[in-house]
Amino acid sequence: MTKRYLMRTYGCQMNEHDSERIAGLLEADGYSATSDEADADVVVLNTCCIRENADNKLYGALGNLKVLKEQKKEQNQDLQIVVGGCLAQKDRDLIQQRAGHVDVVLGTHNVHRAAELMSEAKLNGPITEIWEEAALDEAEAFPSALPVKRNSDYSAWLTIQIGCDNSCAFCIVPSVRGVEISRPVSDIVDEARRLADSGVSEITLLGQNVNSYGRDLALAARKSGEQVRVRPMFAQLLREVGSLDGIERVRFTSPHPKDMTPDVYEAMAETPACVPHLHFPLQAGSDRVLKRMHRGYTGERFLEKIEQARETIDDLAVTTDIIVGFPGETEEDFVRTLEVAAAAEFDSAYTFVFSPRPGTEAAEMVDDFCDPDEVHERYERLRTVIRRSALMKHQARVGRTEEVIVEGPSKKDLAVLTGRTVHNKLIHFPSDPLKIGTFANVTVTEASYQFLLGELVEVTRKPRHRTKISVTAL
Ligand code: SF4
Repeated sequence: MTKRYLMRTYGCQMNEHDSERIAGLLEADGYSATSDEADADVVVLNTCCIRENADNKLYGALGNLKVLKEQKKEQNQDLQIVVGGCLAQKDRDLIQQRAGHVDVVLGTHNVHRAAELMSEAKLNGPITEIWEEAALDEAEAFPSALPVKRNSDYSAWLTIQIGCDNSCAFCIVPSVRGVEISRPVSDIVDEARRLADSGVSEITLLGQNVNSYGRDLALAARKSGEQVRVRPMFAQLLREVGSLDGIERVRFTSPHPKDMTPDVYEAMAETPACVPHLHFPLQAGSDRVLKRMHRGYTGERFLEKIEQARETIDDLAVTTDIIVGFPGETEEDFVRTLEVAAAAEFDSAYTFVFSPRPGTEAAEMVDDFCDPDEVHERYERLRTVIRRSALMKHQARVGRTEEVIVEGPSKKDLAVLTGRTVHNKLIHFPSDPLKIGTFANVTVTEASYQFLLGELVEVTRKPRHRTKISVTAL
């Protein structure tokens, strides 16, 4: 009988991509995917420790799986439980101490060991294996050579860097993902070329701080005696990946405003495949709060960088992340956040209420925690400002024809398709069924602050990937 695995991923794109790698390893070992827990031989929880209540979510899920494991045992069936990701990297042995029925705990640096650890646990009992830092061996640090089960046939994540050298006071990433390590340009371009050959037309370059990509490589080259300037190589990478045949859209996440440089804007403007969309995390507008966060820029400087980007890149969409209620935030600070957000005219924003993450500097600022009711009132005021600029931006697109990639039928109406524009905006339009990954021109007819509505004009290109029809053993 085919063994089955269920993958549950929490958190960011980095975790999504790690899950694709673990799924690839399991499928290479003869497993196939299932979405039904009762049907699974292995359940993998790939955890996040940034989102609110991350811990409760994990231990709640493990509680339910304990019951299922016991039920399966009564039927002489086995259920292996694997916990990976950032919360595993942070909590380590604590996970099996709190949930002894977990078979494997692995971290963010040894994703490539997932299948091996499952086999070892079958032989030797429960295992926790956490690597302090990424392997020196690139093949392990960047497991691009490993099998991968991608969630999309036409769009792919491509890791260019792991870890982060910054120390934002609210963020746990540096302590669970380690220092910044950039992958050699040639490895990234080779993988991008392989993706293009397999029919992928959209690539998202992944890193915690992509615009400092390559600084460590240049430093290492300088130390080995090469006459090189020590500076990021992200602009060069965008140009190289963007010039590959078959790659029609290049996106990236996440840049850091303090490290953003004009050469990146120029590369985006001069490389047709680079989409005119910049996700630029502001986090707060007050200089006092930005300083306490260790963000390394001011509200004014952030706006200048956006203005520079808009002057260089035509028709640029800008989105952001903002935290409300960072410890010590006053009404005056918050009003500054509203002012900067309004001046930036964002196309949309991910807005968060501050939540203390154990292990971060901000979690220790207990005496400065803001009143929750005040924070929620501020949160609603911020959302109003964001929705206003998003609606304005979307209304400005009414009457324009956008090239979209079809993502599939809309969740609400099978006679309507959903597509994504180069600005990463969702657009819904009535149409006969079209293959996922199809390029089409759609005229925008209506706008809301969340999405666009449109009319299909024409299909411009068929998807190049072959759709894999999974044949499950009966
Ligand atoms: S730049 Fe700041 S917020 Fe982003 S991953 Fe690094 S420490 Fe976290």
